[in-house]
Amino acid sequence: MTALRPFPPDLTTALRAARHVAVLTGAGISAESGIPTFRDAQHGLWARYRPEDLATPEAFRRNPRLVWEWYAWRRDLVSAAEPNDGHRALAAMQRCVALTLITQNVDGLHQRAGSTDVIELHGNITRIKCSADGRIVSDWPEGSEIPPPCPACGAPLRPDVVWFGESLPQEALEAAHRAAVTCDVFLSVGTSNAVVPAASLPWIAAESGAPVGVVNPTMEGQRAGPGIHLLAGSAGRVLPQLLREIWSDVPF
Ligand code: NAD
Repeated sequence: MTALRPFPPDLTTALRAARHVAVLTGAGISAESGIPTFRDAQHGLWARYRPEDLATPEAFRRNPRLVWEWYAWRRDLVSAAEPNDGHRALAAMQRCVALTLITQNVDGLHQRAGSTDVIELHGNITRIKCSADGRIVSDWPEGSEIPPPCPACGAPLRPDVVWFGESLPQEALEAAHRAAVTCDVFLSVGTSNAVVPAASLPWIAAESGAPVGVVNPTMEGQRAGPGIHLLAGSAGRVLPQLLREIWSDVPF
């Protein structure tokens, strides 16, 4: 295993002094828990489909069974997965500093690692809602009908996630934006920064004067610039090292 490079002093100094840290996570932080990123999913069981073609309201109208089954497959992956050291390091950081955790992930692994008040920009795959009125449904008839019908109105059930072309939950988006503008340091972890509006949060933070640390093993497509520090490596290695370097006495 190669040693990680030392962290940029500008970033560690800012983190030590920070009163408020904001963190944005993407699919990459859950990769080490065995959950495929969007890109990985294209090499697996569902290689014939582009996730973008399954994660839309049109796809659900066209072929609700296919979309339901794709999400059922992803729900099974998520429930079999465990949080990794990257998720755990962020939960530990929340015990050291005021930390707003914003995620694009729908897997709930941050909460299972112990993080609280997680801002879920894209919903949560483990929640199911009625496709007609959006009400959350916790129990539905297991029968031959796929997707199962809403017990209240009979409309097909769907996952409580934000599909391409749908609006993000307004309250979550506002809270995320506020955190980006007001934080002292911003960390962007495991995201390709391809999906707006989440992708703009690191740049909003940078424009508001916060140093930004970008944690990603490849750095492909990551924007560089003044105040943006690229921390090359996997989230499961970089985040625990950052935690130990800044808050050495926190139990992890
Ligand atoms: P993405 O698939 O577009 O990008 C993943 C990024 O993570 C890439 O830049 C990749 O280089 C990086 N990465 C891979 N392994 C990593 C590791 N071990 N540590 C750190 N980084 C690593 O994902 P995205 O940017 O989150 O955007 C795509 C959308 O996909 C999001 O809207 C999200 O809702 C959805 N999604 C969620 C999950 C999940 O909940 N776990 C999984 C797949 C897709």
